Amino acid sequence: MASSHYDIIIIGSGLAGLTAANVLAKAGHKVLLLERHFKLGGLATWFNRRRGCIFDVSLHGFPVGMIKSCRRYWNDEIASRIVQLERIKFDNPQFSLTTTFNRDDFTRLLINDFHLKEPQVKEFFDTARSMTHIDNASMTTKELFDKFFSGREDVVRLLMEPITYANGSTLEDPALTYGIVFSNFMSKGVFTFQGGTDLLIKLMREELERNGVVIQTRADVQKITIQNNRVTGVVVDGLEIPAKAALSNANLKATIFDLAGRENFSPDFIAEAEAVRINNSSTQVYIAIKQGETLDEETCGDLLFSSTAPAFRTELLLSRNVTSRTYSFYYPKTRPGTDRYYVVASANANYGDWANLPRSDYEKSKQDLIEETLTALEKYVPNIREIVDHTEAATPVTFKNYTAHWDGASFGTKYEGLAVSRNLPRQIAGLYHAGSVGIIMSGWLGAVNYGMIVSNDVDAYMLENKGY
Ligand SMILES: Cc1cc2nc3c(=O)[nH]c(=O)nc-3n(C[C@H](O)[C@H](O)[C@H](O)COP(=O)(O)OP(=O)(O)OC[C@H]3O[C@@H](n4cnc5c(N)ncnc54)[C@H](O)[C@@H]3O)c2cc1C
Repeated sequence: MASSHYDIIIIGSGLAGLTAANVLAKAGHKVLLLERHFKLGGLATWFNRRRGCIFDVSLHGFPVGMIKSCRRYWNDEIASRIVQLERIKFDNPQFSLTTTFNRDDFTRLLINDFHLKEPQVKEFFDTARSMTHIDNASMTTKELFDKFFSGREDVVRLLMEPITYANGSTLEDPALTYGIVFSNFMSKGVFTFQGGTDLLIKLMREELERNGVVIQTRADVQKITIQNNRVTGVVVDGLEIPAKAALSNANLKATIFDLAGRENFSPDFIAEAEAVRINNSSTQVYIAIKQGETLDEETCGDLLFSSTAPAFRTELLLSRNVTSRTYSFYYPKTRPGTDRYYVVASANANYGDWANLPRSDYEKSKQDLIEETLTALEKYVPNIREIVDHTEAATPVTFKNYTAHWDGASFGTKYEGLAVSRNLPRQIAGLYHAGSVGIIMSGWLGAVNYGMIVSNDVDAYMLENKGY
């Protein structure tokens, strides 16, 4: 690996890095993919435990657009395994309901259960759907809701809670970040990958190998080398590997400040990059059900947004004192051919609430989180403590250790990160970034699509610089 010269080196194998590697290799470029972990996938990951337990970390749901993106940039086999989750449930002090989470069903709910007028609902959906990346980003999501549903905290909760969970966006973020993601989900509902994340990443790896991508795991890139404002390669394990371009799938701020080095950018760009806010992180509790025991699909659904908070508040969603949990219930249908049931409870979280705890307090807090989650889950699975086989918790510290994302960010950066990410090649020729930024470009679909968009830029750069 070290002695070769590559056209492009991809740093990181999250879904954006994997997709970029595949698109660029298919376009005929010589691609090296370097991943610091021993597994590919980044946050699209899974882990195995005793007695055949297997947990998915971020396979909870994504919009239908993933089918088209996987068919175009991956293959039919991957695309054909994407299936709909039919039972999305909400349970909170304001309402309890089950929905297919698409426009028709939300229209029905908003009119029949929330007693809104049809034209008002239609105009809201049309406005949300018409928002694009080139829209003025000054309107906030709160202002959007105030315009359409002033004083209706219950409606705001229905519309906002799942999106906050899906990409960390808040009422204070630009409305377009909400509008794009919400409309993506509303087009057909929530989808998943049948067979589990392990199968998805295996199929992606096979496709990369067929297309000639050289893959190296346990390869922690320390530096992107730059001469005369142009990328010349990367350093991994102390060795420099030459390349014409580097595409970083690492956290945007880590790419600029840790890998490239602030001295290589203009002061204005550095000021802009410093101002980019990191998105929030998460906690998760993984629960395996004993072999032979089951969960009731009718009661639990596929995805359950549960909260005990009286109303939707961003700060409550992030609080260490968890009131809102999103449960993913996995049935044998998730991995056809197996007979196991699992629950994964996720909550948004702040890195600072976990990172500074002394070791013993940290371990105790994790145990408390598991206990509190089991207690909360008793509402939906009354005998959960009798049927539980294995429990485990992940915190923002876990996510940071796993991906090297600053502050263990689950969704990269806030909206302003997108412009900084896109402007990297204007600062340093041959330097690109693709990965969770700007809320829209995060999540499984956002990461795949951003990987594809940036790989097209890299392809154009390679054509322009053929003789270089
Ligand atoms: C708890 C949780 C639940 C989620 N649930 C969902 C969901 O239900 N639906 C959804 O769509 N999205 C979900 N997401 C978000 C989604 O998983 C991510 O947005 C997406 O997978 C990120 O992809 P990415 O390409 O940005 O890269 P990442 O997954 O962030 O991967 C970056 C990769 O770069 C590697 N790397 C970093 N630095 C270096 C280096 N110096 N050298 C080599 N390699 C390096 C890392 O090890 C990692 O593999 C969830 C995220 C979390 C944390």
